[in-house]
Parts: sequence; C-alpha cells; structure tokens
Amino acid sequence: MSLLVVGTTALDSIKTPRAENPRLLGGSASHAAVAASYFTTPHLVGAVGDDFPRKYINLYRRHGLDLAGLERLAGQTFHWSGEYELNMNRRRTLDTVLGVIENFSPTLPPAYTRLPYVLLANIAPDLQSHVLDQMRRPKFVVADTMDLWLNIARSALLKLLPRLDCLVLNDTEAAQLVEEENVIAALPRIHRLGPKYVIVKKGEHGSILSGPKGLFIAPAYPLVKVVDPTGAGDSFVGGLMGHLASQTGSPENNLRAAILQGSVIASYCCEGFGLKKTDRLKTADLSRRLRELTRMVKW
Ligand code: AMP
Repeated sequence: MSLLVVGTTALDSIKTPRAENPRLLGGSASHAAVAASYFTTPHLVGAVGDDFPRKYINLYRRHGLDLAGLERLAGQTFHWSGEYELNMNRRRTLDTVLGVIENFSPTLPPAYTRLPYVLLANIAPDLQSHVLDQMRRPKFVVADTMDLWLNIARSALLKLLPRLDCLVLNDTEAAQLVEEENVIAALPRIHRLGPKYVIVKKGEHGSILSGPKGLFIAPAYPLVKVVDPTGAGDSFVGGLMGHLASQTGSPENNLRAAILQGSVIASYCCEGFGLKKTDRLKTADLSRRLRELTRMVKW
C-alpha cells in the first residue's frame, strides 16, 4: 500500500548559533516524503519554481519518490528562513516567501486519487482540503499544520479538521488552536473540532497520542547534540505514515509503533542540517535506535 504526501517543497535558509546554511532542500513534503521512503513509496504532490536545483530532484529520485504530482512552475520556489536560539527548542521565522505555492491548485494524477494513506503535510489548509477533495475513500488521513496557518487561515483549518482521522501539531500550536496552555486539557477540545486521533509533539520531550483508547505517551530519542531540528516534525509524521502504509491491518492497531518509528527518524533529522542525515540512512540505523528506544521505556 502506499502513501500520498502533499506539502511544501522548499528552499530553506537556516541559522543556528553555530552555523548558517542558505537555500538547503527543505519543506514539509520533502522531509516527510524522504522519511516515509524508508518504509513505502511516497507519491509527492507539490510545486517548485524555476530556481529549484536539479540536484534536489535527484535526491527525491534516489529515495524512489513518485514525482508525477510534482509541478515545476514559473516563479520562485517556496522559501523559508529561520533562526534558532542557543536553546534549539526556540526558533524564529525570519521570512516566508510562498512563491509558486501561492496560486498552486493541483489536479492529482488519476492513480494518486486511489491511494489509501494520505499525509497532508504542513501547507495552506485550503490546499490540503483541495487535495483531499480529490481522494476516493482513503483509509487514513493525517494532517500537520503550523502557527502561520493558525494565524492567517484559521477558518480554512477549522473546515478541514472534521475530515481528518488524525491531526498532528506541536504543543504551542495546540495551545493556540483551542486557547488552552495545558496540553492534556487541550486534547478533548481538539477532538471536539473533528479528528478522532490527535498527536501533540513536544520536541525533545516526545509526543502524546490521544484517541478512543486513551493516551499514549511516546518518548523522543535522546540526543547529545542537536545540529538543526528543522524538519524534525515533518520527518516524524512522514516516518509515522510511511510505517502505517507499510503494514497490514488497521491503522488504529499500528499507530503506537508508527509513532516510535517517527520519533526515531526525527532524531536523525536533528543531527544534520536540512536533509543531510535523513538522506543517508540505512534501515539498520532505524532498527538500532528503535531497539534502544524500546529498551529505554520498558519496565
Ligand atoms: P518543522 O521543523 O518540522 O516545523 O518543519 C520545517 C519545514 O517546514 C521547513 O523545511 C520549511 O520549509 C517548512 N515550512 C516552514 N514554514 C512553513 C509553512 N508556513 N507552511 C509549510 N511549510 C513550512
């Protein structure tokens, strides 16, 4: 079974206290699809401008992504720049240039419309809905979002939420969405907006899944050194959906394992700038960290 991924295919300029890297390959869909590619074949939907380097297309190809849904349009590629503080949990967006995604309204290749797993990675909620409108009875739909969309497209996001099986967002976004700082108190309020499952990411402190069977608390893989956490959230949800799409049986039964797989791949993402580390993993790297993580929480 396989997976549709829509989101940003971007150029990222990233500043950390130790280094600065302009115009790296980034974007929610790039991080998510590359992470998912360790488990399944991701079918990408996105748009790049005429400034998008060929070497990044080659990277997508190396990971076996289906690029039939990736459009090259005249104009600038989505560009995000951000700066991290010494405490890498804190970052500031310096600039977001929507470029070609501002008017992007894709018509999916016919084969994509029958894919069972759908990942609406972080991008404008109207565009997420537009893609979902074209899907025929998907099995499991997950969406991610970000503060920018909560600020400028809140009503579009609220319209999307009842159509999801699962919403993934970080703790500050959860607080912003329902105006409740306590994550545990925020969860039932988010469910009331539509999604049966909600996953709240808490950076280095792991994540919480909330669903009909109650809560599941998942750790993050503990790292000694974080080089660049950009894309960790996207890698998390990409790994999670890639794992779900590779399994038989109901997504409900596989969700906890999928979260741990997502945590493992997100940890690798943090160890290099952009996609540097996630580009070069072996399945043995993933299984080793998964074993270690499992051992750390067993009691
Ligand atoms: P994360 O660190 O998981 O929040 O994801 C960061 C990635 O999201 C970067 O590679 C950016 O290109 C991309 N990004 C930043 N802002 C947005 C946005 N408003 N919508 C979609 N993608 C974004």
